[in-house]
Amino acid sequence: MTTDIKTNAAQPEQFDLIVIGAGSGGVRSARMAAAQGKKVAIIENRYLGGTCVNVGCVPKKMFVYASEYREKMEEAKGFGINGEINSFDWPTLRDNKSNEISRLNGIYSNLLTGPGATIFNGTGSLLDANTVRVKLSEPAQDTDHLDIRGEKILIATGSWPFIPNVPGAEHAITSNEVFDLSDEDFPKRALVVGAGYIAVEFAGIFNGLGVETTLAVRKDLVLRGFDDDIRQFVQEQMMDKGVNIRPETEVARIDKQDDGSLLVTYKNDEQQVFDLVLYATGRRPMTDGLNLENLGIELNKDTTIKVDDFFQTSVPSIYALGDVIGTPQLTPVALAQGMKFLAQQYHGDTVPMNYRNIPTAVFCQPNIGTVGLTENECKQQGLEVDVYASNFKPLKHTISGMNERTLMKLIVNKADNKVLGLHMVGHDAGETVQGFAVAIVAGATKADFDATIGIHPTSAEEFVTMRSPRA
Ligand code: NDP
Repeated sequence: MTTDIKTNAAQPEQFDLIVIGAGSGGVRSARMAAAQGKKVAIIENRYLGGTCVNVGCVPKKMFVYASEYREKMEEAKGFGINGEINSFDWPTLRDNKSNEISRLNGIYSNLLTGPGATIFNGTGSLLDANTVRVKLSEPAQDTDHLDIRGEKILIATGSWPFIPNVPGAEHAITSNEVFDLSDEDFPKRALVVGAGYIAVEFAGIFNGLGVETTLAVRKDLVLRGFDDDIRQFVQEQMMDKGVNIRPETEVARIDKQDDGSLLVTYKNDEQQVFDLVLYATGRRPMTDGLNLENLGIELNKDTTIKVDDFFQTSVPSIYALGDVIGTPQLTPVALAQGMKFLAQQYHGDTVPMNYRNIPTAVFCQPNIGTVGLTENECKQQGLEVDVYASNFKPLKHTISGMNERTLMKLIVNKADNKVLGLHMVGHDAGETVQGFAVAIVAGATKADFDATIGIHPTSAEEFVTMRSPRA
């Protein structure tokens, strides 16, 4: 990481904007502000690019690709192509991934320093409403810290995996560690605990890479908050692909055995032995060491930082955005917030950020892509809706011999014919739904969908050819 340290401790250097945290939201805000002529400092104590680039979206997607080859080889047989997967070499995948991430770290550094932002390699802590102390990761000769002053301070410190307090939890890992397992630690048997994005994605990754995979879900279905039909369908598809999903299962304790394996005891007293336990049970806001209490910065009940429509905290010169404020924990949301923040601060934008119709994908297998309201949310809002659904075997699988099916669902407001929700489980659902999300954001009606000619033969054309609502 580039560190450009100015060491005049008596007179802290003055910046227009100090950003704490160089993840998705922090980097976007810092580099765009610098490009607009602001004097910007950005402080980071780990890696440039934050969770998304280093231990999240980007390496995860690489692992998803890797995990698909075994099934592709099976599919190929139906097309007369016969081959075998003889081995899977974890160190090759891990190290190729790491090399690409290092390259991206370098790009992030250039994106910041190119327009003139100063990167401080250290941990930021608020001294007062305009001063940040940077505890240097690599102390200089005469000091281990540096104070800098900012007209505005932006907290973009993100979130951190949360592990519930279970005896033996110290033997489990989180998404922070799973990307860089040592050669010996790549498991033969893995337990994934949780039912959210990370849990279902990693259950699919492990399963696809040939690991005997169990997913412990504390309720009956994965992915609370998604449309119920989608949840049910994806759970069935994952089980069909070989993931052992244990609904209504909670871990009581984890014991490390003499041979290094992990004995997991569930709350119903059943036991299972694994080589690795991955907890994916949500992420807490990363506010450690920021000194928020001393400045009287107000928090929400869930300990995220409370901000108004302008990302302003209860201390007027201090702002916050991204995972740390409790909005959807998604990179594109943090990026949009960064752009909004700059527009509000420096270009007179008075319109708050719009959080409606955020499209999202879960890279489980098959993928989920979704935008807009679920059927349940429509019901809760008292909306009368027509539901169009199509559950089919995609063309490829008619001869691949695989059981994988696709589900598509449209939810239409009876009152004005607008499409309120669009959901899909199937190959490349994220790619498909990104395009449809534009239509939903633009307020497309079912009549607009009907008037659109399909692209044949695709799965996506189904979204414009569904004619009869579900009874
Ligand atoms: P999520 O917030 O998605 O889900 C948390 C899960 O943990 C829930 O299923 C919850 O179950 C379960 N859980 C919570 N506490 C316990 C407990 N004590 N015991 C058992 N299960 C528990 O968290 P993730 O960690 O998966 O991901 C964090 C966020 O990161 C996501 O919300 C998402 O915003 C983002 N992300 C996005 C991705 C993408 O865009 N593709 C990929 C990965 C992450 P229950 O439903 O029963 O409450």
